[in-house]
Amino acid sequence: MNATSTETLTVDRDADGKVLLMSLTLPVLTRWLVEALDEKPFRARQLWHWLYIRHASSFDDMTDLSKGFRERLRDVARIDTLEPASVHQASDGTRKLAWKTLTGAVIESVLIPTESRVTLCISSQVGCAMNCQFCLTAKMGLRGNLTTAEIVNQVVLARRMFESEQHISNVVFMGMGEPFHNLDAVIPATHILISREGMDFSQRKVTVSTSGLVPEIRRFGKESQARLAVSLNATTDETRDWLMPINRKYPLAELMAALREYPMKQGERVTFEYVMLKGVNDSLEDAKRIVKLTAHIPCKINLIPFNPHPGTEFEPSPRERIDEFMNYLFSKHLNVTIRTTRGDDRMAACGQLGQPGPRTPKRLEPPPHLRDAVRPA
Ligand code: SAH
Repeated sequence: MNATSTETLTVDRDADGKVLLMSLTLPVLTRWLVEALDEKPFRARQLWHWLYIRHASSFDDMTDLSKGFRERLRDVARIDTLEPASVHQASDGTRKLAWKTLTGAVIESVLIPTESRVTLCISSQVGCAMNCQFCLTAKMGLRGNLTTAEIVNQVVLARRMFESEQHISNVVFMGMGEPFHNLDAVIPATHILISREGMDFSQRKVTVSTSGLVPEIRRFGKESQARLAVSLNATTDETRDWLMPINRKYPLAELMAALREYPMKQGERVTFEYVMLKGVNDSLEDAKRIVKLTAHIPCKINLIPFNPHPGTEFEPSPRERIDEFMNYLFSKHLNVTIRTTRGDDRMAACGQLGQPGPRTPKRLEPPPHLRDAVRPA
């Protein structure tokens, strides 16, 4: 008997005990069908095909499965775990998609078409615990983790709804939540997205973004083939401790050391996201420090114009400032892009997902020399 067959199989279930099919990677689905339903292993691939290529929404649609097998599945398993709640289209074609979970929580994804690709930005948690000072989702606090099924279902539903119009080519884990705070659910979700037999996203087109949880970065590098993005957003510990309090646990030196050791394939790069906040992190000194910090890390820098939201104490850097910042980094041979602001008119842009609730996490005091850069709270 080998090791895997002695381990008991634990699978995500809904409140009625039905197995959440989209929580299972192909090897786990195969084991479950064999061990729990006494089916032949090849049934897993058939089911996988219906879930991820045909985007079936009911077992009745799966016409090449025997009636008995379909009825069995209907009794013990569940396909969708999210329900579409609303779609808002911004004037630039960006769509903000809201979904309702089985427990009634609302989460969001954003569908972003550009000339060269269509990207779906997905959520990994309901709210977020990181309390980044410039982000709207942070104001919700953490309400809960999503299951693998709920993460994958965002992509499957978006494909079901919009595939005839636009082919979703890229997935970014840059919606609500800190993916590395829910890594047990996120890693299998990346496996399912990348599976050749199913959705077949290129591993270069699935990107998971983190605020910088160092042990989880190491684990992700070992266990997932997807790409890594890191929200840098500040160049000194003093400023980053304030803007992104996770920095107090994993300061810049530790974060950058982990990235220097991060396993990367030929041509692979880590993306550093950098939100441009007027007077806070947009000086030439900051640009110089970015060059130093990122030395010896194959990377690209993505400058994000700050998207203001009601009540924020921050202001966007002026366009000329962003251009000067970018040009300095260019002159040091860094690969830099500016993220086009998308979906602004429907609050679907970066850092604008979610509805702040009554239990807003506490606002942090800026370092003394940056007090004048922010509006009084
Ligand atoms: N928690 C993860 C995933 C969220 S990604 C992370 O921090 O990486 C969302 C990206 O949008 C992050 O890079 C974040 O720094 C950025 N962001 C947050 N609020 C923003 C805002 N108001 N305007 C522009 N970018 C913002």
